[in-house]
Amino acid sequence: MFVIQIIFILVLGLALGSFLNVCIYRIPRDESIAWPPSKCPHCQTHIKYYDNIPLISYILLGGRCRNCKEKISIIYPVVEFFTAMLIMLLFLKFGLTFNFVIGLFLILSLVIVFFIDLEHKIIPVNFYIFLVPFILRFTEAMFLTKTGIFFFIIEYLGGGLFGFILLGLIKIISKPIFKRDALGMGDVYLFLYLGLFLGWKSIIYILFLSSIIGAIFSVIYVIIKRTKESEVPFGPFISIAAALYLFFSEMILEKFNFYLMFEDLIFILRHS
Ligand SMILES: [Zn+2]
Repeated sequence: MFVIQIIFILVLGLALGSFLNVCIYRIPRDESIAWPPSKCPHCQTHIKYYDNIPLISYILLGGRCRNCKEKISIIYPVVEFFTAMLIMLLFLKFGLTFNFVIGLFLILSLVIVFFIDLEHKIIPVNFYIFLVPFILRFTEAMFLTKTGIFFFIIEYLGGGLFGFILLGLIKIISKPIFKRDALGMGDVYLFLYLGLFLGWKSIIYILFLSSIIGAIFSVIYVIIKRTKESEVPFGPFISIAAALYLFFSEMILEKFNFYLMFEDLIFILRHS
């Protein structure tokens, strides 16, 4: 039974990865993700279903279009592979539970943000997308865990608001310091989205982790490219940090819970 589940998840992951490729290519170009079917970006030939099998088609075709023999970007199989692996990890962590569904939507968004921001240096914002974490977390609080409406408001609506305000403030404050927009509005909205998904506690950790990963990467980038100016987008690092928090939040909150520090501080203040 477990083997069948693993195979199912793998096929699901590859299929979703293939769909994400469509999103990653078309969203920044303002094209519909539902229509028309996939075309070769070089010769515009419609790709046949048997040439559109995730990973396998790329290998069978030797990484080239069947019609025009133009190279197919390595990004396509990379996205399919990573999406499948992340969804597999999600399944191994949560099993087929509601948490898996929540994690699934989050991971799919993070993969899209990662690759679009990496290539186009934008984070696309569609306001309907905020309904996804809203509905999922509301359903969970009201009908599944029955933690109730106040928990939902404080934990998740509060989380979204916290992320939005914190990043908004950083954006405003950092502009005169760096003399340019260090953060785009896309980054600010991304933190609103993450707060709705992961709760208010996640915000500080995601900000902290993404800054560290971003700083390390920027230093390496500047050394390798031998440039002084490194215009590295922030979205990919936020995506990595949010995925790390999704998978390791229990461990992070257990070992590095600085909210406890505040509780201790309040405790000491009260009793002094
Ligand atoms: Zn072609």
